[in-house]
Amino acid sequence: MTISFTTETRHPESPCVECGHPLSASGGPCEAKPGDLSLCIYCGSLNAFADDMTLRMPTVDEFLEVAADSEFQEARRALMKMIEDRKFSIDAPAKKP
Ligand SMILES: [Zn+2]
Repeated sequence: MTISFTTETRHPESPCVECGHPLSASGGPCEAKPGDLSLCIYCGSLNAFADDMTLRMPTVDEFLEVAADSEFQEARRALMKMIEDRKFSIDAPAKKP
């Protein structure tokens, strides 16, 4: 499976609903719009776009919709692996010359 993140959507800076990290852009196969869902690049949590394109907590129905979507779950697994790898490289001691 190929997951495409070729389109970047700039949106008003707003905090991730889970980790609070400020986010102002998202990548996906097409331009994001109100009601679309997004994964936080820092913690992998699910966020939703409000009507003003700030981030909001997804509704129960939105959570259930992605829980049943195998493509979305695959994308989330790939993101979580990337986050883990990044955390490891940040935590690793710097190599001495
Ligand atoms: Zn987050």
